[in-house]
Amino acid sequence: MPLIDDIVAMDEELRTWRRDIHAHPELGFEEHRTADFVAKKLTEFGIDVVRGIGKTGVVGVLREGNETRSIGLRADMDALPIAEDNTVPHRSTCHGTMHACGHDGHTTMLLGAAKYLAATRNFRGQVNFIFQPAEEGIGGARAMIEDGLFEKFPCDSLYAMHNAPGVPVGKFGATAGIRTAAGAFFDIDVIGKGAHGAFPDQGVDPVLIASELVTSLQSIVSRNIRPSETAVLSVTQFHAGDAYNVIPDRARLSGTVRTLSVDLMNQIEERVRQRAASVAAAHGGTAEVDFRIVFHPVINDEATTSTAANVCSGLVGESDVITSSPPGTGSEDFSFMSEKVPSCYLILGNGISAPLHNSHYDFNDDALAYGASFFAGVVENVLAPAET
Ligand SMILES: [Zn+2]
Ligand SMILES: [Zn+2]
Repeated sequence: MPLIDDIVAMDEELRTWRRDIHAHPELGFEEHRTADFVAKKLTEFGIDVVRGIGKTGVVGVLREGNETRSIGLRADMDALPIAEDNTVPHRSTCHGTMHACGHDGHTTMLLGAAKYLAATRNFRGQVNFIFQPAEEGIGGARAMIEDGLFEKFPCDSLYAMHNAPGVPVGKFGATAGIRTAAGAFFDIDVIGKGAHGAFPDQGVDPVLIASELVTSLQSIVSRNIRPSETAVLSVTQFHAGDAYNVIPDRARLSGTVRTLSVDLMNQIEERVRQRAASVAAAHGGTAEVDFRIVFHPVINDEATTSTAANVCSGLVGESDVITSSPPGTGSEDFSFMSEKVPSCYLILGNGISAPLHNSHYDFNDDALAYGASFFAGVVENVLAPAET
């Protein structure tokens, strides 16, 4: 069976929605226009809408029959603080903000499935359409969960999808087990003692301490972590001083850590704290460490993933469904939902495109019918009406 005909017939409409959302990107927890857009469409389709779950989050509820079984489908709505370099007509109208991760496409695909399912109702049970805010590291999933997402809208299983640049359009990935890494952000304030640049003996130089600390932090992964484990530590910011002849009081280092388990992340946090304290102390300074775990690993449930792979095979054929691939060191906020409900986080080919989080990236509209067909297809599979 190829894609769902009624969804393919919607293709032009899906492209129009996607480009509208792309042109009006909003950062995490500021998705007011996007949430309005989503809520308006869901209401037009005849779906009940609940807003304000996780601030700007939106949930649509569609029920058919009296069965208590349920399914959740999740898309993300936020954009990134990147200035778009594309010149397409639907480029961002909001300078400095763009949909560089394809969440405009994810939102559109879920809306497409919602429209189809509300019109055809070929299922029995409850479908929860979850449009989450603030996926990009600022806690949208946790905010929805804390607002009672899964108590108010129980889900027996949950499905989400992310586009993948470089994977051909029409290919899906559904692999069981760990899919994405735990992620942490850190800030280290190194505190020394300011002095004239010509009299360093009268101060404690935080620039030197921070420089040594950058090198020292790089030996945590190579020297303290078992080689068979996966871990990345990157110092991505170094801020200090503003004059040629002044040794500043303080310096700040910031960066990110990725691991495939929360345990390993905790070990690295401990090492980061030790290194910061000891390197600073060796020079007579001090260090204050703020280490925040912002993502857990996404773990795909075996049975849920097998269901997803079967639905994908039905849409594009078994040979275009990747069911085994190594986990990546990217991170995903969906992890917090996947800890609560048996889940599958799928990959959807975006074809040849700029990478995610790049100023030239654009979601590939050719993928819309595939993603929307998956969301609709998995509902018709999991909540299939009983044979009569
Ligand atoms: Zn992203
Ligand atoms: Zn993303």
